Amino acid sequence: MKFKTIFSIGLVAALAIACATNPFTGKRTMALVPNSQIFPMAFQQYDQFLQENKVVTGTADARMITNVGQKIAAASERWLNANGYTGYLNNYKWEYNLVEDPAVNAWCMPGGKIVFYTGILPITQGEAGVAAVMGHEVAHALANHGQQRMSAAQYQAIGAVAGNLALGNDPKKQQIFNQAYGLGSTVGVMLPFSRNHESEADRIGLTLMAIAGYDPIAAAELWQRMKANAGGNAPPEFLSTHPSSTTRINNITSWASEARAEARKFGVTSFEK
Ligand SMILES: [Zn+2]
Repeated sequence: MKFKTIFSIGLVAALAIACATNPFTGKRTMALVPNSQIFPMAFQQYDQFLQENKVVTGTADARMITNVGQKIAAASERWLNANGYTGYLNNYKWEYNLVEDPAVNAWCMPGGKIVFYTGILPITQGEAGVAAVMGHEVAHALANHGQQRMSAAQYQAIGAVAGNLALGNDPKKQQIFNQAYGLGSTVGVMLPFSRNHESEADRIGLTLMAIAGYDPIAAAELWQRMKANAGGNAPPEFLSTHPSSTTRINNITSWASEARAEARKFGVTSFEK
């Protein structure tokens, strides 16, 4: 057999076993690097980030981030359990932190490690706005969007090294992880997700915030404020990775009622704005 054929068969075999299912869409997604390898790296990076940044504790804002975070995490668990994904969050180690930083930014790393920057609070305003951002970011994590990006990078690397799967090669893996999550020298500056992943995270996020008791229409209002803030002084990290287009806002508005309907299945009938 020619080398190329062997390589192809090997690659197909590797891809066949290296898939995950997105519980929200039912779609099979590429997972060349399993979460069992990604989570420990994410947890380590998260701890390092907290050490190197000023974590806000004991304030009303810090308590709000934790409070909303716990509600979104609980909503995720309720949805997953009700849809046949019991145990999906077993290796999650949820954590919610607010850091003192003027950047308009927030993110959730794999395994439920969340950071909000104080710079985003004037735009999120109340709890429902925080829930909208949190729901969206948690949705990226639950749908393994980072893992798919990391797998795509790994896939390219496999091509580059002609068949060496390199999964056991730690420095290489770390490098791919850093690239996929925009970590390393630029911790917390996430690379933009694809438009598909953004839409998916918007839609899942609406359901999560609705089950958590927040009116999903607050997400559309949040993105309006984001859009209005685009010309402001604060570094627009979040906006650069999350363009607040009219299409996005229109989609969110049209999905709000299905998110409320989903929440009603869980007995949530009133929605806080
Ligand atoms: Zn996003």
